[in-house]
Amino acid sequence: MLDQIFIEECRQALLAEKSRIEGILSDTGKKDPAIPENYKTSYPEYGEDGESNAIEVSDYEDAMAVEHTLEEQLLNIDRAIARMEQGTYGICEQCGQEIPLERLKALPTASVCANHS
Ligand SMILES: [Zn+2]
Repeated sequence: MLDQIFIEECRQALLAEKSRIEGILSDTGKKDPAIPENYKTSYPEYGEDGESNAIEVSDYEDAMAVEHTLEEQLLNIDRAIARMEQGTYGICEQCGQEIPLERLKALPTASVCANHS
């Protein structure tokens, strides 16, 4: 069994990561709080010629991909916190074995053991 102190540490780390990601996402298309004057996911305008438009589309798709990744991370964090509340945190969803501490430390959102990832 995982001890409560370890779980609480993971929970704090997940909550901190969650608010960090939410901060980024809530600013989608506006400022990136980590880098002043940097903007994310707003549609870029480089120019009216075909080449500029192509780069605009490509950059916009990159920014959307980042946003998608962040949203997925948020979902994984929420699921991990839910498992903590249900008392199933640290147990592989596939085989029911305990996930090794080292793996949870490296990947607090892990829901499966290394054999099932
Ligand atoms: Zn497993």
